[in-house]
Amino acid sequence: MIPVNKPWLDIRERELLLEAMDSGWISGSGEFIQRFEDKWAKVCGRTYGIAVSNGTAALETAVWALDLPEGSEVIMPTFTIISCALALLRNNLIPVFVDADPRTWCMDVNQVAERITTRTSAIMVVHTYGHPVNLQPICELAEKHNIRIIEDASEAHGARFRGKICGGFGAVSCFSFYANKIVTTGEGGMVVCDNAEIAERCRAYRNLGFGRDNRFLHTRLGQNFRLTNLQAAIGCAQIDKLPRALDRKVRIAKTYNELLKEIPDLNLPVQEEWALNVYWVYGIVLGESYSFDALECQRRLRKYGVDTRRFFLGMHEQPVIRDKGFGIGERYPVAERLSRYGIYLPSGIGTTLEDIRRSAEAVRKCLAS
Ligand SMILES: *Cc1c(COP(=O)(O)O)cnc(C)c1O
Repeated sequence: MIPVNKPWLDIRERELLLEAMDSGWISGSGEFIQRFEDKWAKVCGRTYGIAVSNGTAALETAVWALDLPEGSEVIMPTFTIISCALALLRNNLIPVFVDADPRTWCMDVNQVAERITTRTSAIMVVHTYGHPVNLQPICELAEKHNIRIIEDASEAHGARFRGKICGGFGAVSCFSFYANKIVTTGEGGMVVCDNAEIAERCRAYRNLGFGRDNRFLHTRLGQNFRLTNLQAAIGCAQIDKLPRALDRKVRIAKTYNELLKEIPDLNLPVQEEWALNVYWVYGIVLGESYSFDALECQRRLRKYGVDTRRFFLGMHEQPVIRDKGFGIGERYPVAERLSRYGIYLPSGIGTTLEDIRRSAEAVRKCLAS
């Protein structure tokens, strides 16, 4: 079976991991953590980096650090991972959904303006599957209404909007370094920002809300969201490989594009003229002329030895979100279509050219029958 994802780890990760082990610093402090934070903040053009245990924790921490008014509204895409909504719910904020853009699969920026009310405190942007959100209208809205931008660039390491790197746009910007992400630490995440006060709040939240002066005097809530020095060591090696990893991702996408472009009524990933897409995963969406859906397509591809993943199911369709009273009776037709007709193909950094050819050939056969 050709796997959907294969991480790219080699000798450099091993060397740094052993160095971290030998240093004796194996838990949530040690020099690799600082190094990892500094290196990644620099990649993103930011002043501060706060490493945490995963991307979901990064979002929760970042939102907490902004100290938004309790019960205020945050506009977010419905078509995303549950982590985005969890970060809001855990911070007693109201998620307000917008549909996806049918081309980029990111949030439909035209709908954001319509959803702004006097209760809106922030917009959460998510760069879906490696393609940046059209940030210009979002930044203008944020400025005009004095609301914050929370950026989730977990799927878009190294992607760019009009030349500026994703992770550089939010009051707080978040990353996951899960095993299938472009830069990985196995499990891991980070918040980056430019504000010293927000950075300090993130550090406190990550580490049980320890006091600044009297360590064991707690005035704020916290979590144990520490990343280990061992994971950070792997991360340092990974960051150095980012340019090569991005080259590979683009090459994988271009190869698929070439092999699949003749198939009628099949939507492939795009790259808008203002965007640098890093093609975190290579998604395809069946057009309306097909008589079967993504589930059936996935089943057929599995018969050819090709493993795939379904697209997200929108937040407004999630029982756990509806149970909280959000998204009920709302319809987001683009997101609903993407979740029913979209899958992504093997496109991890370790995926070989041969795997891609075989996968593309299997897609062609499955869609023709
Ligand atoms: C992977 C991902 C996360 C969650 O990251 P974890 O490290 O798995 O907690 C959050 N947001 C987006 C957009 C992701 O793709």
